[in-house]
This record gives sequence, structure tokens and C-alpha cells, in this order.
Amino acid sequence: MMKFYGPLKISPQNRPKSGLPNRLQKLLFTPYRIELKQTEDELYKFRHFFLDSPWPILVTDTLSNVVYANPAWEKLTGYKLTQISGEKPTFLNSGKTPPEVFKKIYDHLTHGKNYSTEEVINRRKDGTEFQIHATYFPIKKGNRNFYFVQSFHDITERKKHEETREKYTQLIKYSNDAIFSISTDYKIESVNPAARKLYGYTTKELVGKSPNILMPPGKEKVLLQAFQNSTKKYINFEMEKITKDKRIINISTTISPIYGSNKKLFGYSLIHRDITEMKKIDQMKKTFLSSVAHEIKTPITTLKLMLQIQKRLLLAEKIDLPKINTSLKTIDHEFNRLTQLINDLLDLTRLENGRFTLTEEFFDLKELVNETVTKIRLIYDAKSVITAKINSIYIFADRIRIEQVISNLLINAIKHSHSKEPVELTIEIHPHRVVIAIRDKGSGIDRKHLASIFDQFYQVRQNSDGFGLGLYICKTIIKLHRGKIWVRSKADHGSTFFFSLPLKIQNTKSGDKKILKNN
Ligand code: ADP
Repeated sequence: MMKFYGPLKISPQNRPKSGLPNRLQKLLFTPYRIELKQTEDELYKFRHFFLDSPWPILVTDTLSNVVYANPAWEKLTGYKLTQISGEKPTFLNSGKTPPEVFKKIYDHLTHGKNYSTEEVINRRKDGTEFQIHATYFPIKKGNRNFYFVQSFHDITERKKHEETREKYTQLIKYSNDAIFSISTDYKIESVNPAARKLYGYTTKELVGKSPNILMPPGKEKVLLQAFQNSTKKYINFEMEKITKDKRIINISTTISPIYGSNKKLFGYSLIHRDITEMKKIDQMKKTFLSSVAHEIKTPITTLKLMLQIQKRLLLAEKIDLPKINTSLKTIDHEFNRLTQLINDLLDLTRLENGRFTLTEEFFDLKELVNETVTKIRLIYDAKSVITAKINSIYIFADRIRIEQVISNLLINAIKHSHSKEPVELTIEIHPHRVVIAIRDKGSGIDRKHLASIFDQFYQVRQNSDGFGLGLYICKTIIKLHRGKIWVRSKADHGSTFFFSLPLKIQNTKSGDKKILKNN
């Protein structure tokens, strides 16, 4: 029988040259003089198990002093047994292993139990780190722990792969584009959340099906053709698709072949980006451009006609005052329309070029409102607008742009008021913001239009007086001021347009202005 002895205490003085404690050295490397051939074989196997093992193995005594490390361990860590024998293996510590992991290992070993973990990150002699799958187990003599063995398995590469895979998984999960993986026989294998959201199907309803489930009826062949054309290189094209609730949407589609490391075609990635909104705006722009040309031509024709009438009257020396007055009014109206159109167009191009900037200053909103209302009353009617009592309130904003918003909302309200009821403007002052409301008792806006009313080119009735740009520009101006704009309206019951602006100055009772910090 092989004999074991108690744990070894090694002091630097009695450390043997080989780095191994004498007793273990004897056990492992010295031909052990015993009579039984069977025992010799056992010893040989035992010795070679350590020496030849591809798994790095470290043996410590129960006080955690190194007593043995095999060549695989030396190779992995860069340390030589002769250098570390008798030391505590804290030199491996990278500082990245949570202390509670060491505590768990120690608790298990001292209670005579095995413990495996992947949480240990160690440091080599050259400073590089490696992550291990480590198994710790005690060698016992009877009930007493004798040695502790650590067997490692380097999992750095595997962890790196896992991390990369996890990153790709998250990338696909949080992508805004719908992503499908498609098998070589053109079946959906997996889908991301954006794909489910875009088409309204569940994963179960899509997986295993042909991507033709997303094609409008009669267009199924096109997709198959596209897959066949993309076995070598990705292809990108635009296509109409159909959602579960039968909505047709415009999709920018990319199909890319996926090849494995053995150059074998694995399948395809299918990426869908919803461009319906983009297409709609594009179409609106086209309609807008043709209507702009038309809109410019109409007032010019009218202006020319009016001027010819004036000229004829002058030449005939007929002073027909009512006629002159009517044609002057028409000229004025048409000029106003042209000016408004040109201003809106200029604002739109500034917005598109990112050149729409604010020139902010401190001013009294009460004064601005009064000035704007006076101008509007001159153009429309003295009774067109009423204002509730307004207090002075200083704001830090672009005076001209805020005037533009107020007059735009007032003119819209007047234009849509059929009755003689005036438009009402009120101002509410809150601790951190001021809210301006413009209320009319006019036609109101149907519910279905309310969500889009502030969109670019959106009009409730096309070919009305404007171009669907006024409210969009108002929204942009208010957003640039970090304010909000919204509407409450009911068809046939009138509308109230609100906008709020943050207050950056405190208006004290004495009328002094105290500047608050800009946010
Ligand atoms: P436009 O210059 O074409 O009037 P706007 O952006 O100012 O464009 O307005 C968008 C749409 O909102 C218009 O088509 C108009 O019908 C509707 N609208 C705006 N203000 C009101 C209002 N006070 N009452 C009813 N409809 C309104």
C-alpha cells in the first residue's frame, strides 16, 4: 500500500532543489522501494497523471502553500514550481475575482467538499490575464484534509467568444431594424423584437414560415428571386410589404448571404427598415413643389389683372372709387399671401439646412402680445381678437420668432372662425413656465387629424389657403425654446392651441427681474 503522510510545512531553508517537498518528491519521482509490483505500477500511473496531464494542476497543503504544480500549470501561468513552492498562490490574483468566490472555495475545501467555478480571473507571470474553469478538491486521509488540489481549464478564449456572441445578440435585440435569419431553404429561423413589432406577428407565427408571409398577394415570386440573386453578395432594394393587420408598408430590404468558416452557405440575413414615413414626406414634397409653382402663379395673374384694371380706369380717367378700393384690397391680400409663402419657404429651407437659429433676449411677453394683437386687428377686424387681462411677464426668447408663432396661431384661428365670435388669447403664468392659449369657436378639427396637425405639409383640406407649413414651423420654434405646443379641438366646436415657454427669469413683486440659470 502506498503511504501518505500529513500536510507538509516547508520553510525556505528546507525547500528541496527540485522545488518539491521531500516526501512528495519521493512519492512522485523516487523509485519507491516496496515489494509489490502492483504498487509500483500505481505509483507510476499516479506520477504520470500529474506530469502528462494536459490540465494545469496545482497542489497546496491545507494552509494553501504550494507543494506541487505540473508542467501544464507552469506553461499556462509562466511560473516555475521551483520559484513558487511553499508560497501562497496569491501571486495569481488579478484583483478581478470577487472576494466572496475565494471564500466559497475555501469554505468548501475546509469542509472536505469539491467546488467548481468559472468566476476566477487569474494573472500570469507576464501580467496578462486568463479566465479559468477551476475545480478544487481536497485529498483526504480519513476524515482529515491532507492536500488541496486545483485543476484549471483556460476558458479565456471561450469567454471572449461568449462575450462577442452576447454583444451580437444584444445588437440584434435592440436594433430598430427588423432582422430575420433565413435558412437555405428560405424559411424564417429567428426574428428580433423590431420585426415582431413592425409586422405585428408573434415569433411562433413567423418561425418556420416562408418570408413570403410578409409579401402582398401576387408578389411572392419577387422575394424568392431576390434570395437566389444574393447567394454571393448582399443586395438592397425597396419593396412593399404587408403587416398582419393588412397594412401595406414601404420597406428598404437588405438580403445578405451568411457563410460559415468552411465557406458553406449557412443561410441569409434579411433586414427590413420601414421607410413608409420617409416616402410619404417625399411624396408630400413633390406635391408641395408643384403646388408652390401653382400658388405663385395664381396671385401673380390676379395682381397683373388688378393692375391692368387700375391702368384702364386711369387711362379712361374714370375714378370709380369702390372698384379701385376692391382691386386694391385684392392686391393687398395677394401680396400678403405671397409674402407668407416666401417666408414659410425660407423658414423651411433654413430648417432643412440646420440654419434655423434663435436670437434670444429678455423681453416682456405682455408688450409683445399687445403689439401682435394690434397688428392683427389692423389686418382683420378690430373685434377679431380679445385678450384677457395680461400681467407683465419677462421671458428669455427670440422675440421675432415668438411673435411669428402668436400671429400664426391667431390668423389660423380667425381664418377657421365662421361665426362673428372673436378669438380669445389668454396667458397663464406658472412657477416655471408660461402658457399662452388661443381659443376660437370655429370649425374645429376632427379627431383623426389631431395627431398629425403639427407635421410638415399636413393639411386638413388640401389646396386651402396655406401649405401645411405654419404649424410645423410653430412647433419647431417652440421646441427650439424648449417649450411645448399642443391643441385641444372638437369638430364644429372650435379649437384651442396652447404653447408653453420655460421661465428663466423670476418676476419679483417689485417688478425687478432676477435671472435664473439657463438650462
Ligand atoms: P396651413 O398654412 O395650410 O393652414 P397649418 O400648418 O397652419 O397649415 O395648419 C395645418 C392644418 O390645420 C390646416 O390644414 C388647417 O385646416 C388646420 N388648422 C389650423 N389651425 C386651425 C384652427 N384654429 N381651426 C381649425 N383648423 C385649423
